[in-house]
Amino acid sequence: MKKQTTMVCRLCGGRSSQMGRHLQQCVPKYFSEHPSSSENHTFYLIRVKGRYAPEYVLYLLVPVQQKLRLLDRFLRDVWLECCDHLSSFYINNREVASRSVDDFWGKPAKTMKQVEIGKVLSPKVKFSYIYDFGSPTELDLEVISELRVSAIADRVHLLARNDPPFNKCYLCDEEATQLCLLCAQANLEQALVCERCIQAHRDVCLEPDEFELDLLIPVTNSPRMGVCAYSGDKDPDRQSVGATTEPSPDSS
Ligand SMILES: [Zn+2]
Ligand SMILES: [Zn+2]
Ligand SMILES: [Zn+2]
Ligand SMILES: [Zn+2]
Repeated sequence: MKKQTTMVCRLCGGRSSQMGRHLQQCVPKYFSEHPSSSENHTFYLIRVKGRYAPEYVLYLLVPVQQKLRLLDRFLRDVWLECCDHLSSFYINNREVASRSVDDFWGKPAKTMKQVEIGKVLSPKVKFSYIYDFGSPTELDLEVISELRVSAIADRVHLLARNDPPFNKCYLCDEEATQLCLLCAQANLEQALVCERCIQAHRDVCLEPDEFELDLLIPVTNSPRMGVCAYSGDKDPDRQSVGATTEPSPDSS
């Protein structure tokens, strides 16, 4: 049986089964007490869900005057990035792509660098997103409301994220901590392995002759777990809402 998605508000530490409603109260209260900018800025409160894995949920505070590229980058950092694949937003029957490509109708799509968030989205608008057209991860998004608060407006703030779901080991009832890359694309359940069953996985592996320990990668809290070369977010706390300093520059 699927457990219900649970999550904690990263602003106040509280739990709520109606996180969207909670955040509409909590965000203005938090930033009036802990402003990270001297001015008010306009943001959208946005919920993001895995289309085929709805237990993965993010609540984000997204500055409206930034370009869609900022939201794309954030989703890649937290949930998606493996090999710099193409991605697109679909908003009111229009495609906005990460790089210049022809859209579904054969016309050049606008790129995310050109499109300002507040120009194409507004409260109550539902839209979608695809990362990687070969092995796609599809997301459903919704603008819950518009909020004006004293928060830094050069980044997306992560307000709440689902607790890591329980993934059962294929061979026993323990919690899986690893997954086998050889099995993951064909059968994610079979790919899941706990610490104790690592050696025993060879017996059930879909490609036992190819199996090696370094083909096991950590289980991740992401709808892209087990897809392509995805191996987890690099720095999950980088975008933490409490951080008032600039995000640390990429080490690469
Ligand atoms: Zn809260
Ligand atoms: Zn990839
Ligand atoms: Zn096990
Ligand atoms: Zn395997």
